[in-house]
Amino acid sequence: MFLKSLELYGFKSFPDKVSLEFADGITSLLGPNGCGKSNIVDAIKWVLGEQSTKTLRAGKMEDVIFNGTDNRKPLQVAEVSLVISNEEHHLPLDDPEVEIKRRIFRTGESEYYLNKNRVLLKNIRELFFDTGVGKSAYSILEQGKIDQILSSKPEDRRFIFEEAAGISRFKVQSQEAERK
Ligand code: ATP
Ligand code: MG
Repeated sequence: MFLKSLELYGFKSFPDKVSLEFADGITSLLGPNGCGKSNIVDAIKWVLGEQSTKTLRAGKMEDVIFNGTDNRKPLQVAEVSLVISNEEHHLPLDDPEVEIKRRIFRTGESEYYLNKNRVLLKNIRELFFDTGVGKSAYSILEQGKIDQILSSKPEDRRFIFEEAAGISRFKVQSQEAERK
């Protein structure tokens, strides 16, 4: 399972459609300060369902939409889609490729799509349970995250082991059943 491609439109500093293809291996993003490297990482977190504006370095969620420059008008919508190779079916779907898309309007409303079908954020979360991918899993380690993991409370750190052991899915299902 690996990230195959990412497409951004209207997300943060990318008003034009940008397509990035990733090979199976290491990819580095290089560029001067402020050119948008971190915005690309934010786009990956966002499309996976990140809801924390702090994590996304935005004041409010609509701030992820391109907000204009001196000679370019702000946009009304932002879209990010990400394609994951699923040849080995680590994601519980038959498809060899899985596309996830998120769109947001200035009203703040987000839409999610899974292989072109409209879904709920909950469905995206469920797809990634126990895979180590997902908005709060350990596939994205930003600055300071390793320190945070090492210094966090044992109960919080337990989440990482539960993901790796493949039991997160069952824990959430049992919590949901208790609530009903
Ligand atoms: P550094 O090397 O300093 O970490 P970086 O390449 O990671 O830089 P980013 O943080 O990705 O840079 O990009 C910052 C730029 O993105 C800033 O110029 C900021 O104005 C711009 N930006 C952020 N949100 C928006 C938005 N909604 N619309 C337009 N531009 C935005
Ligand atoms: Mg940066």
